[in-house]
Amino acid sequence: MQLPIASNEVVRAYARKLISSHKLDIVKMLGLYALAAITGLIPAWVIGKIINLATSNTLHTSDITRLVIILLVSSLSFALLTFLARAQSYKLGETIFATLREEFLASVLALPLIDVERAGTGDLLSRTTNDVEALSRTVRFALPEWMVAILQAVLTLVAMLLISPLASIGAVVSIPFLVFSTRTYLKFAPPGYRRERMSYATMSGTISETAEGARTIDAHQLSSRQSRRIEGDINESYFSEIYTLLLRMNWFPTVESAFALAVATTLAWSGWLALHHHLSIGAATTLTLYVVQVNDPLDRIIMWLDELQIGQTSLARLVGVSVVTDNRPTKGPEPTSEVIVMDDVHYSYRAGRDVLKGISLTVRPGERLAIVGPSGAGKSTIGRLLAGIDAPRQGSVTVGGFALAGLPLDTLRRHVALVTQEHHIFIGSLRENLSLAKPDATSEEIKNCLASVDALEWAEALPQGLETELGTTGFSLTPAQAQQLALARLVLSNPHTLVLDEATALLDPRAARHLERSMSAVMSGRTVIAIAHRLHTAHDADRVCVVVDGAIAELGTHDELVALNGQYASLWRSWRNESQEGS
Ligand code: ADP
Repeated sequence: MQLPIASNEVVRAYARKLISSHKLDIVKMLGLYALAAITGLIPAWVIGKIINLATSNTLHTSDITRLVIILLVSSLSFALLTFLARAQSYKLGETIFATLREEFLASVLALPLIDVERAGTGDLLSRTTNDVEALSRTVRFALPEWMVAILQAVLTLVAMLLISPLASIGAVVSIPFLVFSTRTYLKFAPPGYRRERMSYATMSGTISETAEGARTIDAHQLSSRQSRRIEGDINESYFSEIYTLLLRMNWFPTVESAFALAVATTLAWSGWLALHHHLSIGAATTLTLYVVQVNDPLDRIIMWLDELQIGQTSLARLVGVSVVTDNRPTKGPEPTSEVIVMDDVHYSYRAGRDVLKGISLTVRPGERLAIVGPSGAGKSTIGRLLAGIDAPRQGSVTVGGFALAGLPLDTLRRHVALVTQEHHIFIGSLRENLSLAKPDATSEEIKNCLASVDALEWAEALPQGLETELGTTGFSLTPAQAQQLALARLVLSNPHTLVLDEATALLDPRAARHLERSMSAVMSGRTVIAIAHRLHTAHDADRVCVVVDGAIAELGTHDELVALNGQYASLWRSWRNESQEGS
């Protein structure tokens, strides 16, 4: 399921807002371009004048000098004004694009995790790369060039009408061709471009999934299946490109022929009028030159229309991200109790297929609870619900009586945190990396939490201590140090309950001994719910909850469950035998 695409109204409203916030600069830019366009009309008019003088046998050198000076000055002013207008429009384009990018980034960061998970990384990746790129071309070049071209075309048309409305009719014959072919194109192009963009998203999704899951694909010999999927995606984008290409192949030649037709008919018609003394030869020349001249802006209007379509589609995809609403409130109750309760929880990823079927469980504050069970039983899903990432379809998951999924994110994080292996280092100082968890943390607090995970010593030995820049562009930490940072961040946000999914937990088998010490420092004094994939975790836990096929099969201490001689006992026996054989 891809992220939504904004409707036309939403996109238009967004564009209006964007334009009105830069109204003054836009008016300034258009004013400069209008001046440039007017000066650009002078040369053809001067040439007409010279021809009139030449044909009337009243040519004086002084007149010629005057006209040539006008020609020179107008050409120079045209160059200068165009330069100034371009500078202004590039500046404006950059400013608007920067705003767009910042707002897009803000909405991406505000996306609820659950929507990102559902949409997959490919869609978001394609929006942040292909669509931002396409939009950048539109905002920086297409839009200003297009507005300018329209302005030039309109002004040229006005000049033509001022010279002779009757003679201008000659150019009109090409209008039906232009309008008809452009309308047809505009009708079929947007869905075509949307399909094209979507096919890129699907393709990059499949490719990045394949690259990320390369080992799994190898292990399960899925490579030919994956190749077929990629081939299918490539086919889809090939055909969607062919479709838009065919549209352009029809449209462009029609437009070019219409231009040529306009010049020919204007020349013939105004020439006939001049021969019959309804128009001066100079005026006929100026008119025909204007029609030749207007080809250029019209051509640009049409050429950029294509780019504008792509830009519009991309904008709809970018604005679409901000349409996703986060149902999580920003303000809410502050639970006072630390008791987490799951009551008759049902959950499904796909409608009609419950993976959790009526789970009821009370987590006692301070206990170590291990959740065990066969693969696919729903353990990780329970973990996600206990961490408040999603709400159950039916039933409730509460802390102190309040639904976890309904708590504001910062409140939630002070209660429960899901501990995963994603120990991301952000570009920024060590302090900034930690204070993400608590923006108002003092240096003292930051040092304390580093000390509690055994990381203060190396942190203080960094070139600039807490202010050392980290991340891809800064100082690079060892994987163990990065994990300690993630743990320190947890200590700083200080949740009373940790949900530890062992499959993706911080501790990888290569982790150094002292990391385990850091981990137990983080766990001490907190409730820990461990999704246990290794049964020795269950052995050390206060209670073990056995989940089979989305329901709790057994619940009790390790000894109780072994004595019960049920599911857990047999799991335990087989696991112990395996580990003994292994050792
Ligand atoms: P466990 O952690 O016990 O292995 P999970 O909670 O990961 O089990 O999965 C429980 C069931 O839900 C499985 O049948 C799994 O295929 C399904 N499942 C898990 N994640 C998703 C998802 N994102 N979309 C659809 N089905 C899912």
